[in-house]
Amino acid sequence: GDRGEGAVLLVLHDMSEVEAAHRVRQDFVANVSHELRTPLTSLRGYAETLLDGALEDREHATQFVQIIRAQAERLQALVDDLLSLAELERPDAEFQATRYDLHIAVERQVAAFADAARRAHLSLVFEPSAPVWVLAEGPRLEQVVANLLDNAIKYTEAGVVTVRIGEDATMGWCEVSDTGPGIDAEELPRVFERFYRIDKARSREKGGTGLGLSIVKHIVGLHGGEVSVRSEPGVGSTFRFEVPRAR
Ligand code: ADP
Repeated sequence: GDRGEGAVLLVLHDMSEVEAAHRVRQDFVANVSHELRTPLTSLRGYAETLLDGALEDREHATQFVQIIRAQAERLQALVDDLLSLAELERPDAEFQATRYDLHIAVERQVAAFADAARRAHLSLVFEPSAPVWVLAEGPRLEQVVANLLDNAIKYTEAGVVTVRIGEDATMGWCEVSDTGPGIDAEELPRVFERFYRIDKARSREKGGTGLGLSIVKHIVGLHGGEVSVRSEPGVGSTFRFEVPRAR
């Protein structure tokens, strides 16, 4: 009868969702393993080279230990990002949005990245603005701003990184613009995927994990907001997120 068919359809639908979730998890585990393997292989190789005699070679020994430290830092960044994602995905995760001034998140993170910008010979500009009151978890919103600033500074060779904030009828927004390499149109929608990188070697060399923008997307989604990017290759990129305003 009608009822029976309805039930069968429902079950099939559930199964395909379970299967899809399973596949996503499998891909994720495979990706994580791959990401862990590269620095681990390198750590082991340099340690063995040192033990095989390079320890006696002062100059090379120092260089190899510096590489070991850099690889360990990479592993640390990866584990930190994985823990952030795990925390965000916990089904019982508490999300407590309160009235929060976007201005404060941006001001703090612009101050935190001032040194990195100076070292990269970039100007970091935050155009002063009135408070923008949004409904948010302060520390998480700061992480969003931090990840966007980190990328803008990491991928920009020369020029300016500019942060702007504002509000419209229902949302508060923040834009981070850079004068970096830009992103091709066909890559744009993919940069928010976990482990997606346009230039793997460059991301790795800069200490990237490939998870920064997926964390951004996740946090903004938890806030009931949206993240987007527009970019012109050779000119620069603008990442924008918006979250609901506080009444
Ligand atoms: P990563 O740790 O590699 O930076 P993200 O998830 O933060 O990982 O970013 C994914 C990819 O998107 C980067 O590897 C890079 O190719 C690209 N990307 C992110 N931000 C920028 C930017 N401001 N300018 C150019 N490319 C960017």
